[in-house]
Amino acid sequence: MTVAGAVASRYEAVIGIEIHCQLKTVSKMFCGCSTDIDGAAPNSHCCPVCLGLPGVLPTINKAAVEWVIATGSAIEATTPAATRWDRKNYFYPDLPKGYQISQYQLPLAANGRLTFDTSEGPFTVRIRRAHLEEDTGRLQHAELDGRRVSLIDYNRSGMPLMEIVTEPDIRTGEQARRYAEELRLLMKTIGASDAEMENGQMRVEANVSIRPRGREEFGTRVEVKNMNSMKAVERAIAFEIERQAGLIDGGGAVQMETRGWDDPSQSTYHMRLKEEENDYRYFPEPDLPPLITTPEWLAAIKTRLPELPAARRTRYQTELGLSPYDASVIVNDADASTLFEDAVKTSGSGLAKSLANMITGEYLRLVKTAEGHVDPAELAKLVLTIDQGAVSATVGKNIFVEHFESGQPVTSIIEKHGYRQISDAGVLAKAVEQVLEANPAAVADYRAGKAAAAGFLVGQVMKATRGQANAAMVQAALRERLDRSE
Ligand SMILES: [Zn+2]
Repeated sequence: MTVAGAVASRYEAVIGIEIHCQLKTVSKMFCGCSTDIDGAAPNSHCCPVCLGLPGVLPTINKAAVEWVIATGSAIEATTPAATRWDRKNYFYPDLPKGYQISQYQLPLAANGRLTFDTSEGPFTVRIRRAHLEEDTGRLQHAELDGRRVSLIDYNRSGMPLMEIVTEPDIRTGEQARRYAEELRLLMKTIGASDAEMENGQMRVEANVSIRPRGREEFGTRVEVKNMNSMKAVERAIAFEIERQAGLIDGGGAVQMETRGWDDPSQSTYHMRLKEEENDYRYFPEPDLPPLITTPEWLAAIKTRLPELPAARRTRYQTELGLSPYDASVIVNDADASTLFEDAVKTSGSGLAKSLANMITGEYLRLVKTAEGHVDPAELAKLVLTIDQGAVSATVGKNIFVEHFESGQPVTSIIEKHGYRQISDAGVLAKAVEQVLEANPAAVADYRAGKAAAAGFLVGQVMKATRGQANAAMVQAALRERLDRSE
């Protein structure tokens, strides 16, 4: 049994995930400042509102509110008829007002769920809430003229953030990673967020505790931060489960603390103690009126939702005949899914499975290692050409690679290399004859009852025709020829 397996047989992990997503809006949450801050000079995208100067008043960004309602709708959550804003009070230099405007008691979305595949089958996580809040500024510790200084950049201050909190339903690092991946896919699909972890548009935190199997009571939980990739989410949680089991097995106790993930050492490290929950002294935001969500408004937002990943996977299986695996692989990659959708429009649904094979087999392999592009209409043409027998499947793959790398039309590539499949019975018969003459041993083997020898002879004909022979015709011709002269 592996170490992880031994731990899992004695302890059950209880994991809740909190995800912050930066919403895709043109302006900030409560002011008109641009959200396009990538590469901007520090403190160049600020105004009195997002700097928290006295006497200013916030105004609500409608687009941000609609993104949270849309997310709520996509995760089957409920939205209250009226919601309000709350002040979350704490003091830190990156928070100029001394409070964040957030939603405490009445989140815009509550009691949702998200279902996704794992290696052990489908899994559903209940989502407690999704609410809207504003981001803080950013502290940078640097050296300036030989002195250690702390610099503050308020460009990020007031950016719209959605916080999504799960119930403690997750039990393994893999489930946590898959949940975060599915949520990221959902955000990208509905357009609420670009949700890139590398540039902080999506931040994942996990609350991890363990308890002996069979016990109801929760163990002491540890908050894990700084997981900068999906892989890190899975590994950090797996590490944390084993670390906590080791502590308890050694007669120690788990401390309530915040730990960070350190990628180079593949381990978590102590950041700070968390002796009790922070007291944020929430109270209703006096500068903003309650927000009324009319049924008409909610319905209009729901109507605008595109097809969601789960529905798309089902459609690929039921209407286009894809396997559950192919449907998942394609839907999980936004670019692959778009390519597939556009190509099916050209080729028709009859060739959907062949298109899917080319995308899962060739396209997804190529994009990992090379720069290139596929024209959906050209992909459809290629699959149709293979289907009609004008080029063989093997040659088809070569054509696909060349189109991906050079962007040349499929027809030009076929003409250039003389790739037309050889389906001329006379030409093939001649090639078969030559191969039989050159391989008398294999012919004798076949006649002695070794069926595998036929496969070798087919291979020789394919080789002699540079893969261009129609393989089915070669097989038929060979058998006919061998059996005839017996
Ligand atoms: Zn501003």
